[in-house]
Amino acid sequence: MGKIHVLDQYIANQIAAGEVVERPASIVKELVENSIDAGSSEITINVLDGGLSAIQIKDNGQGIAPEDVEKAFLRHATSKIKSAKDLLRVKSLGFRGEALPSIAAVSKVTLRTSDTKTGQGLEVYLEGGKILSTKQLAFNQGTEIVVEEIFYNTPARLKYLKSLQTELGHIIDYVNRLSLAYPQIAFSLTHNNNLILRTNGDNQLLHVISAIYGTSVAKGMVSFEKSDMDFRIFGFFSKPEITRANKSHISIYINGRYIKNYLITHSIIKGFKDLLMVNRFPITVIHISMDPSLVDINVHPAKLEARFSKEQELLKLVEIAINDALAGQSLIRNAIKNEERAKISYQVSEQPSLPLKVNEEQLRSSSRRIIPQEDTSTLSEVPIIAANQDELLLEVDQQFTTTEASSGKLPVLVPLAQFRGTYIIAQGEEGLFLIDQHAAHERINYEKYLSLLDQEQTACQNLLIPINLEFSNSESRLLNTRIAEFHNYGIEIESFGRQSFIVRSTPLWMPKGQEKDLLEQMAQMLLSDNTINEEALRKDLIAEASCKNSIKANKSLTLSEMESLIVQLGATQNPFSCPHGRPVIVHFSVLEIEKLFKRVV
Ligand code: ADP
Ligand code: MG
Repeated sequence: MGKIHVLDQYIANQIAAGEVVERPASIVKELVENSIDAGSSEITINVLDGGLSAIQIKDNGQGIAPEDVEKAFLRHATSKIKSAKDLLRVKSLGFRGEALPSIAAVSKVTLRTSDTKTGQGLEVYLEGGKILSTKQLAFNQGTEIVVEEIFYNTPARLKYLKSLQTELGHIIDYVNRLSLAYPQIAFSLTHNNNLILRTNGDNQLLHVISAIYGTSVAKGMVSFEKSDMDFRIFGFFSKPEITRANKSHISIYINGRYIKNYLITHSIIKGFKDLLMVNRFPITVIHISMDPSLVDINVHPAKLEARFSKEQELLKLVEIAINDALAGQSLIRNAIKNEERAKISYQVSEQPSLPLKVNEEQLRSSSRRIIPQEDTSTLSEVPIIAANQDELLLEVDQQFTTTEASSGKLPVLVPLAQFRGTYIIAQGEEGLFLIDQHAAHERINYEKYLSLLDQEQTACQNLLIPINLEFSNSESRLLNTRIAEFHNYGIEIESFGRQSFIVRSTPLWMPKGQEKDLLEQMAQMLLSDNTINEEALRKDLIAEASCKNSIKANKSLTLSEMESLIVQLGATQNPFSCPHGRPVIVHFSVLEIEKLFKRVV
């Protein structure tokens, strides 16, 4: 007797459910995607107790024909594809025919649907995947599915679920992402009868962003758009002053499908150049459309990955799209907090708003309006660096003082005075400006060093007295293998005994007197990170050198020194932030000042 037999459908569905239905949020995802595929313009999602008690999804889509209702619960039953060649051109979100049977296998499901406008509909009720009742009822065109007691028949799975708050967090996250994907659909999400998200379906992506993040964030978003023969990209990103501590607020969509893609995320960040602070990330929504045959979405159903051809072209296009849009922006930060300004100038929307990634604290108060804390504090986060005795005077640099070199990125500014030996107070037509003198000089030096580095013949300057560097035995062994990398930077270095190295020349851009420090740092970088890329290393070193070589805080400047600094700053590519991403200049508009003094209302 053979030992192999075919599993019955009931067990097969339970096994499949293990893949498709990981947690309540996966049910929400699958059902909402079905509603989207059915052409709905309104989708209502009501959730009880983080989805653990019940999930109800109602749509006004095309509905299911009475003769199809039972079939919809069979495995691999779908109306969306017929043959293998359809797989290459899938436009719908679903096509595997696995969701309904999998969900039904591990819960109690009621489905009501009608595919006609006559008001005639059908209701089926299933437990553990078995249809227990079917009846006719009056129903408007569309579909309503209620899923109750998730995992009631698989106690082991139930045990794996996290707290109600965590599960709800995942649900909100999905619905937020889907609503950003489909601004033309009106979504509503409630939890225990509290409204969490409502979008109006007016096809304005910015309105959806506003519903999720609040009006003040929406006001700080910049739109971008770019296309070539293969791709069309459009979306919004937040100005560098509005950032988050992680990348989860970067939402990427390919042909309307939310995906996670490290490379695209990286291109977005690269598009910001050095405008972002270390470990701060923009809020970004990016829609990419391309011929479906260029994407392979036929990967694991619960995973959010996609592979696509012409990847390099796409990555470059994303980076350029972001960078071009940034170039057209005035990025001088406003001194008055965004939120404050929203109160002054705009009516605050009544929409509830939750950050895309919610945290426990925020969920506990999900009925309150929550505006994520902005990173707009200005003066308080600028580090004050103690004055140094032998500071460098602000040299007048031929290359950067000519007025015609001005890129016009800054308005015309006239210095008035210096505040606390640290900030230049300047006025322009548009109001009052504060400039952090250290950050400004850092930016000037940074771009100067960068351009020196670009001139290939930078090469070396011979040192009058060679520099001796010492390392531990294991470090010097490792460094010996990387000597060539030092040579790439124009550093003439050779091993000198077992644990030391001797440096006879350094590149031009290395500030005099700081060579040893920088060389040691460079060695440490090579030692601590084997994969460090050359460009990042150079930029880091340059940022470091610019910082060390710049006028510090608590250093008094004459008016003409201030003027020279402003002119040089105006000639830089990016006068708005220092190489570490901190703001260089903040702005108080005339209107805001007048409002503060109640001269205008
Ligand atoms: P898939 O979405 O991969 O086709 P599902 O198991 O999610 O598989 O759904 C099976 C079928 O049921 C779908 O192909 C569709 O025809 C039908 N269906 C499911 N949900 C809806 C809905 N909300 N509106 C209309 N039809 C639906
Ligand atoms: Mg589906």
